[in-house]
Amino acid sequence: MFLTIMTDFAFSQTTPKPIQAGIQVSPVTEATINQVIKILSASSGEKNLARIQKGVTQAASLWRETDGNEQDFAAFCSGNFMPTETGLDTLFIRLQNYFELMFGTYNKLSVSLKETIHLENGTLLPIDEMFGGYEPSAHFTDDFFQNKIAFVVVLNFPFYSLGEKTTLGTNWTRKQWAYARMGDIFTSRVPANLLLKAAETLTAADTYISAYNIYMGNLTDSKGKTWFPKDMKLITHWGLRDELKSNYSDKQNGIIKQKMIYSVMKRIIDQSIPQQIINNDTYLWNPETNTLLQNRKSVPFSPEPDTRYATLLNNFQAMKAIDPYNPNYPDFISRAFDAGLEISQADVEKLFTDFISSPQVKEVGKLISKRLGRNIEPFDIWYDGFKSRSSISAGLLDEKVKNKYPDRNAFEKDLPKILIKLGFSPAKAAYLTSKIQVDPARGSGHAWGAQMKNDKAHLRTRIGNNGMDYKGYNIAIHEFGHNVEQTLSLYDVDYYMLNGVPNTAFTEALAFIFQKRDLELLGINDDNPQKEHLMVLDNFWACYEIMGVSLVDMKVWKWMYQHPDATPAQCKQTVISTAKEIWNLYYAPVFGTYDEPILAIYSHMIDNPLYLSAYPVGHLIDFQIENHIRDKNFASETERIYTQGRLIPQLWMKKAVGSEISIQPLLKAATEALKVVTK
Ligand SMILES: [Zn+2]
Repeated sequence: MFLTIMTDFAFSQTTPKPIQAGIQVSPVTEATINQVIKILSASSGEKNLARIQKGVTQAASLWRETDGNEQDFAAFCSGNFMPTETGLDTLFIRLQNYFELMFGTYNKLSVSLKETIHLENGTLLPIDEMFGGYEPSAHFTDDFFQNKIAFVVVLNFPFYSLGEKTTLGTNWTRKQWAYARMGDIFTSRVPANLLLKAAETLTAADTYISAYNIYMGNLTDSKGKTWFPKDMKLITHWGLRDELKSNYSDKQNGIIKQKMIYSVMKRIIDQSIPQQIINNDTYLWNPETNTLLQNRKSVPFSPEPDTRYATLLNNFQAMKAIDPYNPNYPDFISRAFDAGLEISQADVEKLFTDFISSPQVKEVGKLISKRLGRNIEPFDIWYDGFKSRSSISAGLLDEKVKNKYPDRNAFEKDLPKILIKLGFSPAKAAYLTSKIQVDPARGSGHAWGAQMKNDKAHLRTRIGNNGMDYKGYNIAIHEFGHNVEQTLSLYDVDYYMLNGVPNTAFTEALAFIFQKRDLELLGINDDNPQKEHLMVLDNFWACYEIMGVSLVDMKVWKWMYQHPDATPAQCKQTVISTAKEIWNLYYAPVFGTYDEPILAIYSHMIDNPLYLSAYPVGHLIDFQIENHIRDKNFASETERIYTQGRLIPQLWMKKAVGSEISIQPLLKAATEALKVVTK
């Protein structure tokens, strides 16, 4: 049948597509695409038209000369399009099983190859690092385009954009969702050299930040006095920020040191910082006056030559080079948001803007000022004073945990009991924990889920020779929450293609919910009446801070796309003016000072392109889920919510907690907290 169809083609009439310099393009022309669509719908019926249009167009966009000529493409489509519903379903089940086998095995192999690195398995040899660094699935996409399985998938299970998943997905059946997730597997075909270039660029950015240390003992004030320990070396910006935070407890000199740190940050942002003091302890430096000193004498210096912004632009160029190979996500902003977070950039921007312009920020700002006994300073975006300390001594907690969990076996054996305490039935607790294995971690621990049924999730935890301490236990309970999510969302989700959660924020939410119950699980009642409210205010203020930073990040990326040839100096100007603009709009009314550039200091902006927004979105999701579960049956709600599988975040949330991702629950809780915490 397909052969007769083929003879209808008049290939000579099609004109070749223009070839952009250096960019691989599809040889399949519009005319051929239309012909194939016509032929397939004529033979398989009008009802398939939409599916055919999508499948053929998308397959054509990913087709390359090396896959064959236009005739080959047409023949491939005719030979591999599944016209009947039963046929499509059978194909889907086959593919789903194969993918589970492949992804599950890749994952299992990765877990096993990294075992020596991750577990207490004796001395680490260089060969262990080499095996641990091997990525079994590295060539999966390339191979599957080459053997054309990717084209079978794209042709029959086309990709749906986030917009389509949002509008159409509300009425989709579970199976339609599973089909759509299969359509997400092969959406781009980026040449290996560009992927390598992007990876190298990101590694270079990471190295730039990792080596950006400030020797704090070399900072002096105008009187030549140093304030920080001689050997204190801090990485920008996290190290600087954490030191700034820790100085809230130094009532005497804390503010002096905090101001000094902020001076350093401003010099990093505007790149007036002397190149000679970055990662170098040869000189003394007064960051306020920007004076470099040697033997107490001021010496000339060269400022950092806008390397920070050159690094940012390099990221942009590397991501932009990949754009032409992503027909569905033609720029990095849409890849980060629509494809990565699966929440549109516009939605995220609106959430953040609404939150940081809420009346509550002013009230919380006033409360912080009252607690500090002074006007708030720009760096108080990192105010650290809402942490409630436990009333139980650390020693007592360690004792209790050590007695309960002297070794790995004791902890593993107790896992079902922990779940029963949380409200799971004994049968469900036994079922879940039979799929979770406890391993002794080399580091502080982590949770690594399985990717196929009949494999186990791993709970890696650190247990010393004298048993588990409280800190290890607290982390282990967090990881256990991840494992429970990983197990529910793999084993108890109806379609393998829907296994998992929409993004990492959703698994973190359950991990934190478990972690918060750690004392309760030890049978300890720590009743500080303000604890919950302090936690709300802490979360609230952290969101306020990082949302502003994220807005700067997003605006700068939009600007780079509008100015693809920008110089590092222009980029610097824009980052600074954008940071000030956001500050003046949403922070100046709370802090009382204008034109502060502090929101531009984040290192993630430089070494992890457009990742910042994931943090506040995660905080919101976490808060909403916790808030929803609070007054319900913990176990049954957890089971119900975490067996939904990988829908898109907004739909998942709607089904989980009854509303989309929203700032309202946190704002409401902050209002309540402000009534209780008044000083
Ligand atoms: Zn976690």
